[in-house]
Amino acid sequence: MSKMEDEKGEAPKFQGFPYKPYSIQIDFMNALYQSLNNGGVSMLESPTGTGKTLSIICSALQWVIDQRHQQKSEKRVESDQHCAKGGEFDSDDEPDWMRNFVVNKDDQGQDKKIKKSKIRVGIGKGNFGRNRHAGCGELLSEDVEKDCCRRKEGKNVSSDVVELSDKEFLLEEYESEEEGALGDGKSKRKTLGVSLSSSSDEEGGDGSGEEDEEEGKLKVYFCSRTHSQLSQFITELRKTVFSNEMKVVCLGSRKNFCINEEVLKLGNPARINERCLELQKKKNDKVSKIKNLGAGGRLRRTKASSGCPMLRKYKLQKHFRSEISQQGAMDIEDLVHLGRSMKTCPYYGSRSIVPAADLIVLPYQSLLSKSSRESLGLNLKNSIVIIDEAHNLADSLLSMYDSKITLPQLEDVHYHIEKYFERFRNLLGPGNRRYIQTLMVICRAFLQTLCNKEDASFVDSCQHNAKASEANLASYSSMAINEFLFSLNIDNINLIKLRQYLNESNIMHKVSAYGDQVVSLQKSLASKGTVECGEDASTLSNFRALADMLLSLTNKDGDGRIIISRTRPACTEQRGGYLKYVMLTGEKIFSEILDEAHAVVLAGGTLQPIEETRERLFPWLLPKQLHFFSCSHIVPPESILPVTVSHGPSGQSFDFSYSSRSSTKMIQELGLLLCNLTVAVPEGIVLFFSSFDYEGLVYDAWKASGILERILKKKRVFREPRKNTDVECVLKEYKETIDKLSAGGLKDNPAQTGAILSAVVGGKISEGINLSDGMGRCIVMVGLPYPSPSDFELMERVKFIEGLGNPNPMKTSNLSVNDEINNGGDAKAGFDVLRSCRHRGKEYYENLCMKAVNQSIGRAIRHINDYAAILLVDTRYAYTSDSSKGSFSHPTSKLPEWIKGRLVSTDNYGDVHRMLHQFFKHNKNRGF
Ligand code: SF4
Repeated sequence: MSKMEDEKGEAPKFQGFPYKPYSIQIDFMNALYQSLNNGGVSMLESPTGTGKTLSIICSALQWVIDQRHQQKSEKRVESDQHCAKGGEFDSDDEPDWMRNFVVNKDDQGQDKKIKKSKIRVGIGKGNFGRNRHAGCGELLSEDVEKDCCRRKEGKNVSSDVVELSDKEFLLEEYESEEEGALGDGKSKRKTLGVSLSSSSDEEGGDGSGEEDEEEGKLKVYFCSRTHSQLSQFITELRKTVFSNEMKVVCLGSRKNFCINEEVLKLGNPARINERCLELQKKKNDKVSKIKNLGAGGRLRRTKASSGCPMLRKYKLQKHFRSEISQQGAMDIEDLVHLGRSMKTCPYYGSRSIVPAADLIVLPYQSLLSKSSRESLGLNLKNSIVIIDEAHNLADSLLSMYDSKITLPQLEDVHYHIEKYFERFRNLLGPGNRRYIQTLMVICRAFLQTLCNKEDASFVDSCQHNAKASEANLASYSSMAINEFLFSLNIDNINLIKLRQYLNESNIMHKVSAYGDQVVSLQKSLASKGTVECGEDASTLSNFRALADMLLSLTNKDGDGRIIISRTRPACTEQRGGYLKYVMLTGEKIFSEILDEAHAVVLAGGTLQPIEETRERLFPWLLPKQLHFFSCSHIVPPESILPVTVSHGPSGQSFDFSYSSRSSTKMIQELGLLLCNLTVAVPEGIVLFFSSFDYEGLVYDAWKASGILERILKKKRVFREPRKNTDVECVLKEYKETIDKLSAGGLKDNPAQTGAILSAVVGGKISEGINLSDGMGRCIVMVGLPYPSPSDFELMERVKFIEGLGNPNPMKTSNLSVNDEINNGGDAKAGFDVLRSCRHRGKEYYENLCMKAVNQSIGRAIRHINDYAAILLVDTRYAYTSDSSKGSFSHPTSKLPEWIKGRLVSTDNYGDVHRMLHQFFKHNKNRGF
């Protein structure tokens, strides 16, 4: 009996599916069900428009229900046997799947144990004496010192002018145990207080009132990238019986959930988080004071002490929870609406349902980031984790662990810490004084790194030679963590303890609050014409950026790189330097999820190449241990026409590579191709360009040559705006134009037969817009959208990936990257890196390009009756796999199966035109 079959030998039935499923949907549901039976990792691919979401819901939730039934019946049998025996339960009597799972998990846990990197040299009390850092005060170059002084001049209101209450800003005494030792970093504050994390997503809330976790409850976590994708999931869920049968909760960010208008109007997600946490902090401070007064007695916390009015009434939160249980699956909008009508916070309300929920629907960030999981109280033990839209999972995951601090942010933090220390130095205890001085030392060291371009030894120590960018007048270099710390002479600082101090001492809030107070006093003085003050940035956000950077520096040496971006001397006015930590390996991060969950499913429209994902996220799994399933498209073959177009109507070949894409002749040829398409293609044509700049160049050239005028006779032209917020408006007009044409033509121009949408790969339209039916009858991909080789950070990733599993990665032969020839500065450095790659690095670079192509062309054909032509315009699409172009693998080998299998390649433009005519004629005759 296969695992997928039940006791009677029958395959699972997906009764929850609201319609009669197509065979590929049944195949997909069976594959998912099987994956959940097996546990571990699986990757399931199903093209967009094939009902993937509904299939996921009906298979995964059916599996949960089946497991529960099985568990119940097995418990009944056990209970009967137990009664019959009159003895103890035998541990062997566990359900097979549970026992196998536990055994497997234990094994996996052994295999995957990854030792955490340990700390560097400790902060000895003695280490912080004058001698150790005698030079630190002088670490700042003269320039930086002057600059800091300039900041202070005219802005500083001396402490004897500012009338501020010392008490309000004073820190409670702090000391960490075993100072100077590597120890466990335990610390204590002399008076009781509330610890507050610096992470913007962590909480100060007390969590009271949460529903109890039902022990061992099997939960499903479904996550996707955007809130609109999560809403679509809930819409699909509501079509099924599971909407009411399961306890469902949707989680999201404060930005999406907050109903406190005062907080919401801050606009920026980080500031909304901060403000909400500050309000919780005020609540907790009150609690803390009561606690201190209580002489050791137990504290009774009351919501009445909450800083946010939307959290004051516990009863309302309780009522909110019971409403959700009654109303079935609700998306974020519904929850916000409910929260507003009840005047209680939907953010905390929905979070409190998590322990009792069967299905938790949440964005990537909340599930993949460990700190978010902890702050939300997500327990992945034995759960099912389904990650949708997983086509870029490795990069998305890693970017969550990046951190960055800019020069202005550093200057701001440094300035405020100094002012704070100046003012309170004599009132602070030795623990606080020592840590604050350490923070100042670190800030100065970072500042010097970003500003002091004269320090040759520092520059020489960079592993990668800095290359000046002609475009942004900045230079970049990178280092490993230890190298960075040594070069700054801060390797003796115990960053783990320092980070702990930032979390526990409340220093960030005290310094920021003091700074804000000073600034507001300055402003009031300035309004009387005394002092000018231009401080807009939030010191707390800047402080958080510093704390995040310090946290990154506690990672294992080889896990990531520090990127140092300095502005060149000629443009120091721009103050654009920054330090960025780039996380390069997702293995450890992902193993934390796999160690807990029973099964992790990566789902998406296009998941290829799976090998890259395996190597970057779960390399310990052998390829055969990874369950991969790919289903074909729901539409019949005659509904798709994918063609490579290597030549235009006048025979000019298309080569949109870096070196030749500006060719006027070729741009005109592309224009001629489009003129022909306006005749052959009904309704909407969507063009995808590699960048906004290139789209602009082509558009202007067509305008100047008169080609645009010819195009406009047949189709209206719309262009994707750079601002995401303007996209909706353009799309609406584009759709309305096509709808009007379908309904009888445009009155103002009856000759027009449709519209053209000129879009950009990586822009909003390419990422998640549904271009079904008339909106996307023909998708034209112009060239191969390779990411810019001048992207320093990308090249760091390429180098790292090239080195995966290879002890000597960069001793490579000269392989070209699709024969791209570079002309300038840092692009040349990028191409040098790519040429030196032998295998994985270059493959990764090519995968990025083809994933972007697949995303863009996947916007069309969204349902069974849809049809579209897909034109891949570039000679490089037409080459065979053994072509002499030198590409590691042919780009079309990375197309999704359902396109690859039907791809037509021809050198003759006449063939393309003929095929298009036949294709649209045939589909018109089918009546679609
Ligand atoms: S508690 Fe809720 S409503 Fe109040 S500020 Fe925070 S997120 Fe907004």
